Amino acid sequence: MDAHPSHFAQIYSVYAHVPFCFHKCHYCDFYSLAEPRGDASRHQPFARALLGELGALSESYRLEPTTVFVGGGTPTLMGADVWSSLLYDLQSLLDRSKLQEFTVEANPETVTEDLASVLVDGGVDRFSLGAQSFQPDLLKALERWHDPASVGRSVGILRKAGVSRLNLDMIFAIPGQTLEDLDRDLEAVLALEPDHVSCYGLTYEPNTPLTTKLRLGRVDRADEELERAMYERVMERLGAAGFEHYEISNWARPGQRCLHNMAYWENRDWLGVGPSAASHVGGRRWKNEAHLGRYLEGCPEPPVVDVEELNAAQRRGEQLMLRLRLIEGAPLPWLDALLPDGDWRWGEIKMLISMGLLERTGTHVRLTRAGLFVGDDVVARLL
Ligand code: SF4
Repeated sequence: MDAHPSHFAQIYSVYAHVPFCFHKCHYCDFYSLAEPRGDASRHQPFARALLGELGALSESYRLEPTTVFVGGGTPTLMGADVWSSLLYDLQSLLDRSKLQEFTVEANPETVTEDLASVLVDGGVDRFSLGAQSFQPDLLKALERWHDPASVGRSVGILRKAGVSRLNLDMIFAIPGQTLEDLDRDLEAVLALEPDHVSCYGLTYEPNTPLTTKLRLGRVDRADEELERAMYERVMERLGAAGFEHYEISNWARPGQRCLHNMAYWENRDWLGVGPSAASHVGGRRWKNEAHLGRYLEGCPEPPVVDVEELNAAQRRGEQLMLRLRLIEGAPLPWLDALLPDGDWRWGEIKMLISMGLLERTGTHVRLTRAGLFVGDDVVARLL
């Protein structure tokens, strides 16, 4: 099946995947290639390929995004010179008249004043920093290579460059982590005054070194009770500090939700560029192959895999599953319009309500507190 729908669809969000890291963290299953520091030989060719891919897509889609998100990988491993030409050329490819948010993910070790000013001058207005923990032994347990002090240093550089919108990515239930460790991490997060925090329980993804170590008995996985207590602590602490808990794993200051991720949860149309990036337009999904060499060879039309056209019932399931990730849940009129009478999901919703995992308020169906702890499993049952 051809990936691209024939109509000239409007695209709300664009994701670009940068597949370079200076080291592969042991828990990570994102597509990225560890390359020695200082080896930037593939960065410029990659940036040109990315622009080429976007240029080709602009023939089939109206690229007027409200959000752009550059993730990876480590986008900030590309130097200021590469970013400068990338952002300059992007101006002629993307209509920015509707752009509300332009996020770049950053590894704290890679943020410099030069790079920050190039990114901000080029229109980037939000950064997402991978902090994960502020304790060296816990970062070591993840084989995550950065000095915790570099997070504060990066925040300072970004603020000085004029950035006000900052997310910190955190992980809990790290092997060896105690509740007191988590308290210290949350204190460190709050001291940096981000306007958004993403906080995930550690997942053991297949085919990662961490999962191999678990199988070999070389790491102690946090037990379920401790993981629940940690999630509870994150909710309490961030809530008390004035953050709105708006998605299972995401918290924001009022008005500071990540609009790009909201587009995913609201199941809007987005295009992904770069190796391994996924796209979703009009119920059709596909992914670029996760292979940098073939990506560079194939651009401007890189190899695509997993092309899937969802039927109406699958689309309903997907929309419901995504919407229920939001803490406010699914509005009742939206739900009534989405699910026809007799759809099996009504029965499933009823059962999940009777189990205390979902609840019906006056206006919405949403996850309960108990449902939040197993949120991924609950929403998956409605797919
Ligand atoms: S820096 Fe991020 S993308 Fe790169 S290996 Fe670590 S977790 Fe994965």
